[in-house]
Amino acid sequence: MGSVLISGGTVVDPATGRHGAFDVRLEEGRIAAVAEPGGAGNADVQIDASGCWVTPGLIDMHVHLREPGYEYKETVLTGAQAAVAGGFTAVACMANTNPVNDTGAVTKYIVEKAAAARLARVYPIGAVSVGLQGERLAEIGEMREAGIVAVSDDGKPIMDSALMRRALEYSAMFGLAVIAHEEDRALAGEGCMNEGPTAFRLGLKGMPAAAEEAMVARDIALLERTGGRLHIAHASTAGTIDLVRRAKARGLAVTVEATPHHFTLTEDAVGEYDTNAKMNPPLRQRQDVEAVIAALRDGTVDAIASDHAPHHRDEKDVEFECAAHGIVGLETSLALSLALVREHGVDIETLVRAMSVTPARILGVPGGNLAVGEIGDVTVIDPAVAWEVDPDRFHSKSRNTPFANWALTGQARATLVGGEVKWQAIPPLAAARKRSAAR
Ligand SMILES: [Zn+2]
Repeated sequence: MGSVLISGGTVVDPATGRHGAFDVRLEEGRIAAVAEPGGAGNADVQIDASGCWVTPGLIDMHVHLREPGYEYKETVLTGAQAAVAGGFTAVACMANTNPVNDTGAVTKYIVEKAAAARLARVYPIGAVSVGLQGERLAEIGEMREAGIVAVSDDGKPIMDSALMRRALEYSAMFGLAVIAHEEDRALAGEGCMNEGPTAFRLGLKGMPAAAEEAMVARDIALLERTGGRLHIAHASTAGTIDLVRRAKARGLAVTVEATPHHFTLTEDAVGEYDTNAKMNPPLRQRQDVEAVIAALRDGTVDAIASDHAPHHRDEKDVEFECAAHGIVGLETSLALSLALVREHGVDIETLVRAMSVTPARILGVPGGNLAVGEIGDVTVIDPAVAWEVDPDRFHSKSRNTPFANWALTGQARATLVGGEVKWQAIPPLAAARKRSAAR
C-alpha cells in the first residue's frame, strides 16, 4: 500500500482541535503525519488541496442500499460508489432489505458485499424486530457479532411501546443505539405529505407534525426510565427539536439527526404533485425548517444524514398518493450542507462534527478524527466549486431527487478510505510531480 500526501489545504479537525494550514500524510492505511506545510514528508501520491478543507472522512449514518432484495434500485456496490463520489468514507445502511437484516446471516452478506466493493466502509444496521413486524425482538446479539453498529426498524415506527422499551434495554447490553423512525401510524394514517395548507390545496391527505412528536415524546419518556441510547432519525418538526433540546438539558442519552432535504425544502416543493418531493417524514413548513437549522447551528442536532432512499423510476412516475417515499441523497448531501455554512451561520467545525465526528461516536466506529495513528479516512472538500445537479450523472442506480438542475456550491474533491484514494474530482498530480522531481 502506497503513501499519500494531502498538501496545501486547511485542516478542519474538531476532534484534535486543529484548524489551519497543515499537510496530512497517510501511510499503511493510517494517518502518519499532520504537520505544518512542507513538514509531513514525501509520498507516492500527492493530492493538491489548495483552496480546500481537509476533514476527517464524512460518515452518513442513515442510508438505504437495497441489497439484498431490491438490487434494481441500488446495490451495496453502487451505493458505495455514490458514497465516495459524495465525499463519504463510511455509511450505515438500514435493515429494510429483502430478506430484512434481522439475522447474523444477512448482516454477514452485506458486510461481505461491502468488503468486495472496496470503496466506502459500509456498516449494517440491524432490525429491532423480526421482519420489521414490530412484534418480537430480532437476534440483536447475533447481528452484533456479525457487524451491526445500531438497530432500527427504519421505514416503520415501533408502535408497541413495550417492545420499544425492551429494545432500549436489550440493545444497551450490546452498547448499541436504537435509531427510531418516529411516526404514530394511526395519526399519520393515509397521509402522503405534511398536513397543512398545501395538502389542503392539492386535495391530498396530510401527516400531522404531532404524529412525529407524539412518538418522540414517548421514546424520551421510555429512555428516561430504561436507560440505553436513543437516536432519533430524520427530525422534521420544530416540536421534535424542542423535545430533544429539553431531553438533552435533563442529561438523557438522546441524539438526533436532520436530513439536507428537511433543512433545505418546505412542503412547497411538492408544487404540483412532484413525487420527488414525497418522503417520510414529509417536508414541513418554514418554521420547522428554521427550527432544524437553528438546532444545527447550536449543536442540538447531532448529525446530518441523507436518508438516501433510491427508488426506480416506475415507483415515482405514478400518482402522488401511490408513489414510493424517499429521495437519493448521497451525492447532494455535502453541497446542501455546505449552504448552512455559507448562508446560515453554521461554523465549519460544527458541520464537520455533524457529518463525521458525532456519527462515528454514535455508531461506535473508527474515524471522525485526523489524529496520527487513526484510520486514514479523509475527505478533501472544495467549498467554492459551483456545479449543477444532473441526476443522469449520479453514481447511484436511482435518479429520484428534487434537486435536479439545482445550482450548488461545494463538492468533495477527493475521498480517501483506509489511506487509499477511492474517488477524486480531478486527476492525480502525483505522476506529473514525480516526473519533474526526478529530472
Ligand atoms: Zn425513516
